[in-house]
Amino acid sequence: MSNFASTIAAISTPPGKGGVALIRVSGPDAFKVADKCFRPAVGETQFSQRAARTAVRGYFLADGTVIDDGLAFRFPSPHSYTGEDTVEFTCHGGILISHAVLEATFAAGATPAGAGEFTRRAYLNGRISLTEADAVGQLLEATSMGQVKLGGYESRTRLSEAFDRLHTGLVTLLSSLYASIDYPEEDLASLTDEEVADGLLALSADADKLLRTYKTGHSIRAGIPTVICGRPNVGKSSLYNLLCREEAAIVTDVAGTTRDLIERTVSLGDLTLLLTDTAGIRETSDKVEKIGVERSRAALENASLVLAVFDRSASLTDEDRELVERLKTLSATVIICLNKTDLPQADSDEFDRLTNAFPHSVSLSAKTGDTETLTRLITTLFADGALTVGQDAILSDARQFGALSRAKELLTSAADAIRQGMTAEVACSDAELALAALSEADGRAVSEEVVNSIFSHFCVGK
Ligand code: GDP
Repeated sequence: MSNFASTIAAISTPPGKGGVALIRVSGPDAFKVADKCFRPAVGETQFSQRAARTAVRGYFLADGTVIDDGLAFRFPSPHSYTGEDTVEFTCHGGILISHAVLEATFAAGATPAGAGEFTRRAYLNGRISLTEADAVGQLLEATSMGQVKLGGYESRTRLSEAFDRLHTGLVTLLSSLYASIDYPEEDLASLTDEEVADGLLALSADADKLLRTYKTGHSIRAGIPTVICGRPNVGKSSLYNLLCREEAAIVTDVAGTTRDLIERTVSLGDLTLLLTDTAGIRETSDKVEKIGVERSRAALENASLVLAVFDRSASLTDEDRELVERLKTLSATVIICLNKTDLPQADSDEFDRLTNAFPHSVSLSAKTGDTETLTRLITTLFADGALTVGQDAILSDARQFGALSRAKELLTSAADAIRQGMTAEVACSDAELALAALSEADGRAVSEEVVNSIFSHFCVGK
């Protein structure tokens, strides 16, 4: 069943030369369009009469002339990606030839698809939830294996199921509440007040469980803004390069070489670090370096993770001590990195005091490449080890997190209202608001702006 009158077409494979190109046609006239621009190679019956979901070899036609040969598949509604009648053509993957086939579909009555329009139709025709559509968008944008796993089929299905369970559970509890309000004398409510309160609290706990996956999901999806800081020459650039696994920053033994910020996206297992190497934060009269130092300060304030590097082979300097005081004011997770452990070590007392002042510290050598302890610590701090990325339901979207947090609070207050002996109407009002927040979280009821913003990330043909 389709909600759309138009039939759309687009090339779904990336632009450029390739072995094959895939052209998708979707909408009420998809089969009519296909019959006009595709002729089966064998047999008399038209393509639209051929078996569904079976490859049909044939010829692509423009103005009745054969322009290419290839395959066509027919997916009758509702068993297609969009839920509409859909045809997929595969022709040769030349730029001109794939466009010629696309033009032939336009000449036969199709109109050009907008960005993400196939997936948008799949959502609006009820084939996929907005959560799944959002995950598909993530998959297309993915730059790390963690992001691929998060946007993959298994993961997005689990997340949709988790939202469905919350939704169905709450609708059941609400209907019992409605019955007790509308027919107070008749005892039609299927559940006692106590059972409804317990049910609401159980749902609140389920929502909380999902909310607790957000730190992991967000660290994978959006990445962890990470800053490497420390006085000049402690080994910041060396550590940066090691984490980037290539020579991205200039490493020299002249203090103050890294004059500006260098930023790079780095995959650390499933996690993504948005890594910034900073100039040392120190007083300087050099104008250019001053700008770098200012930017370093701002980056530190905005970071979620700070890798504070100290040279373990030399005594702490005033500049180091100044940094320590600054680190204590930050909201970010700070990891004290004692570098140059391959060299003879300086007196340990002051370093012991330093590491005792912060919850997380590691010893490493950026020179010999020993950063395993550091990467393991970051993974423990930002990814919940109990979760299997790609298999468990993991929340990663800030919008969903906000709406689900509200739903959780409202579920708890609805349960409290019942426990405190308030009228069923009070509990009902909170439970209804919880349902609205839940619908917003799982995309059943979102504004057009939100839908537009999700699909704006898609490319034409998806
Ligand atoms: P930055 O100014 O803090 O970015 O420091 P660099 O990364 O440029 O390093 C300064 C100097 O220390 C360079 O000569 C590096 O090769 C050296 N260095 C960095 N890390 C280590 C380490 O772990 N061990 C040793 N022995 N030298 C290091």
